[in-house]
Amino acid sequence: CSGPPPPVEHLSPADLFIAVKTTGRYHRQRLQLLLDTWISRNMQQTYVFTDGEDKELRKRMGANLINTNCSAAHNRQALSCKMALEYDTFIKTDKKWFCHVDDDNYLNVGSLLKLLSQYTHTQDVYIGRPSLERPIEATERLGSTETVRFWFATGGAGFCLSRGLALKMKPWASDGTFMATAEHIRLPDDCTVGYIVEALLGASLIRSALFHSHLENLGLVSDIHNQVTLSYSTAENNRNTVNVKGPLSVNEDPTRFRSVHCLLYPDTAWCPSPWRL
Ligand code: UDP
Ligand code: MN
Repeated sequence: CSGPPPPVEHLSPADLFIAVKTTGRYHRQRLQLLLDTWISRNMQQTYVFTDGEDKELRKRMGANLINTNCSAAHNRQALSCKMALEYDTFIKTDKKWFCHVDDDNYLNVGSLLKLLSQYTHTQDVYIGRPSLERPIEATERLGSTETVRFWFATGGAGFCLSRGLALKMKPWASDGTFMATAEHIRLPDDCTVGYIVEALLGASLIRSALFHSHLENLGLVSDIHNQVTLSYSTAENNRNTVNVKGPLSVNEDPTRFRSVHCLLYPDTAWCPSPWRL
């Protein structure tokens, strides 16, 4: 092993646009935990995209809470409506990197900066974890009967796009066209991003093992300090979380995100000893 390649671009947190997708019923249930942990350290660059107003959340996040007015349903249209707004909002900023995460992701911004600084934001970069072992196949509506094959980064593990690539996506992603593109291939929002990048623009997904969704066995993740994203599932019949020992019991910290946060930032006021010495 030779270690990570040297940085090619100096990056600071202000260069990032971090979009978190959520929905009204998860504000208390999921988002609160993120606000208490990683978002609290990255308020400036984190934007929460939801589907309903919330006075308490608004007080905490101000203009960084974006009410999309997308439907609160869990269907293709509603989800691609949110992704479309994440994209449009990013394009209007001058940030170098667009990163998307779900509301059940822990994002380690330090590791993310280290990873992205190995690339150039003006070049074509699409980085994340593919959710399938082989490329997905899609049939384009009205187009030829031929199928297109492409890789996509699973939204549930988070992914990033460089500004250079995001700008090239405009004809199929900006100002309402993203939803039309998703309808064209009849696939979810994260697949649609892969379709635009790989099938339409000819760029390729860079696979990173540092992004994690709850589709994988999270108990096997080691070296928590260097991972970019983590996730959890706390379904009673199917608990799937990272393994972090420490004074917070599974009852107190069922997702293990608080324990992860204390491992990364032991000086956090609410972290018990021995993290906080
Ligand atoms: N989500 C949403 N609207 C819904 C349901 C879910 O925006 O009606 C969001 C949710 O907040 C999360 C993402 O979609 O950020 C994935 O949802 P979930 O983790 O429940 O499902 P998964 O696809 O991981 O099984
Ligand atoms: Mn999920």
